[in-house]
Order: sequence, then structure tokens, then C-alpha cells
Amino acid sequence: MNGGDPRDSDARDRGGDDPTGAGRGSVETDGGAASGAEASEGEGSRFSPADRVASVPPSGIREFFEIAENRDDVISLGVGEPDFTAPWAARSAAIESLERGRTSYTANRGMPDLRRAIAERVTRYGQSYDPDSEVLVTTGASEAVDLAFRAFVNPGDTVALPTPTYVSYGPGVRFAGGEPLPVHTRHEDGWALTTEALSEAGVDEADVLVLCYPNNPTGATMDADEMDAVAAFCREHDLLVVADEIYAALTYDGDHQSVATRPGMRERTVVINGFSKAYAMTGLRLGYAMGPEAAIDAMTKVHQYAMLSAPTTAQHAALAAIDRCDDEVEEMRREYDRRRRYVVSRLRELGLPVAEPGGAFYAFPRVADVASDGDARAFATELLEAEGVAAVPGTAFGAGGEGHIRISYATGLDDLKEAMARLERFLS
Ligand code: PMP
Repeated sequence: MNGGDPRDSDARDRGGDDPTGAGRGSVETDGGAASGAEASEGEGSRFSPADRVASVPPSGIREFFEIAENRDDVISLGVGEPDFTAPWAARSAAIESLERGRTSYTANRGMPDLRRAIAERVTRYGQSYDPDSEVLVTTGASEAVDLAFRAFVNPGDTVALPTPTYVSYGPGVRFAGGEPLPVHTRHEDGWALTTEALSEAGVDEADVLVLCYPNNPTGATMDADEMDAVAAFCREHDLLVVADEIYAALTYDGDHQSVATRPGMRERTVVINGFSKAYAMTGLRLGYAMGPEAAIDAMTKVHQYAMLSAPTTAQHAALAAIDRCDDEVEEMRREYDRRRRYVVSRLRELGLPVAEPGGAFYAFPRVADVASDGDARAFATELLEAEGVAAVPGTAFGAGGEGHIRISYATGLDDLKEAMARLERFLS
């Protein structure tokens, strides 16, 4: 023990060095990367993007947040990121893994005990996957989404995206050579996906359908009957499904409904989940994909060349998160729920119609009736300029988001109260 314990000697060797502080500073002032990007866009650059990259417009959110960055009184309701810090047990497991010198790659698919823990954890959603052959640990759910598109979308394939949609799916489909097909969901339906909407959009002819429930940006969840109907449609039209369930643990009314648990759906669905939202671990970059062996084999093939393995330190944190952080997750979920109720009732008091969000941490109120020309973008810009409240215009989430704004309640209740007071002043 004692002298032979690598934790002791490692800690001593680092002495007065403060890796936490240094790391934080260097990440936030990444001027080198910014100037490099500018240089590459300069005239005469050799680097004109490939067509499939050039065809994707820049994010509609970014320009908007540049305005916010130039003021210091802004309350941001714009971020899709928990305001909590990852539970200590997860952080300390990461630290301990480093102290013990766990700095190598893991298996391509992720650490076997983490895969086992994941497979065991998702049984609570009625899902059953073999940790050896049906689970792949990825660098964030983002990598899993990208892998799914790259592994299963052929050039020209149609990928149906219920809109308003999470901002990364459309570009991800295009990078893979596919064609996004918007499927409009409606405020009046609580933003649930209906088979009518699927038929109207021509999804019966599509190759892949992406489902994201609980939803970003609307907060919508699907009830059991709604999910049954969508599953029947997918079976009937032989669709492959990518189900991004990253907000599954942040469900407030009733149980999380996974399409993969419906009859005949497991064999045609890749389920994606991760640690960013439920465990407030966005910066640790850890997610996972689950599906039939053939699906996970194909995704692992791309992953093993593109990524080798997900970050080892984060995998240790994730294992501890599953094993030891249930109480913290439940506390965060309750706090989001409290904020959700507050935000929804205040928005309605202010006369802004909003469908009850059943999960995630977003509300998607309609501002069309109070915005000049019904324009949500103008509304969001004026709200930001006049009152310093940043919300994202619904148009950033594709067709169907017009006339709405996305409000994130991954912001403390005091700030939410102040933001609602400012919104009230703005509306009057
Ligand atoms: N899917 C959805 C719907 C999301 O909202 C996000 C994060 N904003 C992601 C995936 C990406 O999550 P991760 O941090 O695990 O890459």
C-alpha cells in the first residue's frame, strides 16, 4: 500500500500545479482556434469546403448569441445545457481514474463494465440490450447521431425529421449525403408526432425516421398510444428509426416511452442516449448507442476509424454516475420540474400560449400574436435588446418553429423569475 499507491505519488508529483484552473482558462480563451478559422476563410484560401459541407448554412443560433455576449446584464434562456455541475461521485471517479493512471484507450465499444451498467440501466425503459454486442459507447450522443447517419444513410436517401427539430440532425444527414425531409408537428397537438403528419410529409417513401422524445426544442413527449401509432407506421413502411432519447431521464409526466420497445421495432431501431443532460456532464462528452448487433457493428466500424474509443476519463465518470448518482439525478429532475411549472404558468399568465412540455428542459411558447409581423426572430432580437433576455427564435429549429421562441429552463429559478418580469415589462 502506502508508497506503492500510485494515487499518493501522482498527487505529490503534480505539486503546486493546478490543472483544473489552468484547463478552464485555456479552454475559454481559445483565441488560436478562432484566428485559425478566420484565416482559413480568407480570400485565396486553398480550403473551399466540400459541396456537402458548403450546402449546410451556419447555425441560426450563433449570430444571435453574439449580440448577447456583448452585454453583461443578459439572462440567457438560450442554452441547452444544465446549469448544474456533474455530481461529485462522477467527478471524483474521473479524478481517481487519472490518479490511477487510467490514461489509455479503452475497447472500441467502451469499457465492458460501463456497457454492462448501461444495459442494466435502460431496462427501466423496457429496453433490453446485450452489453457485449448491442451497446456502443460514444463521444457524446452527438457522435452516436453522426455515426447512425454515416452508417445507414446512402447518398440520396431520405431522412425524415419531425420539425421543429434539434439543430444537428439536418446538417448531420447532409454530411452523410442524405436528404432531410421535414415532418411538421403542431403546437395544437402539443408538438406530438402524428401519423397524419407522417403521411402528409411523404414519410412512407423515406428511408430513415429520426425521433427525439422528450423533444428539443419543444419539450414534447409522446404518450403510449401516440408512440404505438408511430411504431405501426414505421413497421408498415419499413422505416429504419434513429431514436435520440437523451432526455429520457428528464420526463415529468408519466413514463418515458421508447419506440424501440414496441412490437417489431427493436430490430429496426437504433436508440441513442447519453450523460450530458440527466447527469449534467455535457463537458465530459459521453453518450451511447444501442441496437441489434448488425447496427452496432456498422456504427462501431465507423467509430473505430474515426474515434477509436470514447474518452476514458469520462467513461469512469459515467460508470460512477450510473452506480452512485441516482439521488442527485432525481434532485435535478425535481428542480427542472419545479421550474417547468413556474415558466409555463407565467407564460400563460402573460398571454403567451404554450403547450405543456412533458420532458427535457425547454418550453416553446407562441409569440406570433404579440410580435411585430408575427416574426419570432424580430421578437427575440427586440426582447434581447430592450430587456437583456436571450431566447432562441423558433426558426433556428427549422420549418414549423415560426412564430415561436425556445426558452430553456436549465437556468436557476431566481434568474427565471427576473426573466419573466422583464418579459412582462417588454410585453406591456
Ligand atoms: N440530442 C439532443 C436532442 C440534444 O439536445 C443534444 C444536446 N443539445 C444532443 C443530442 C447532444 O448531446 P451530447 O452532449 O451527448 O453530445
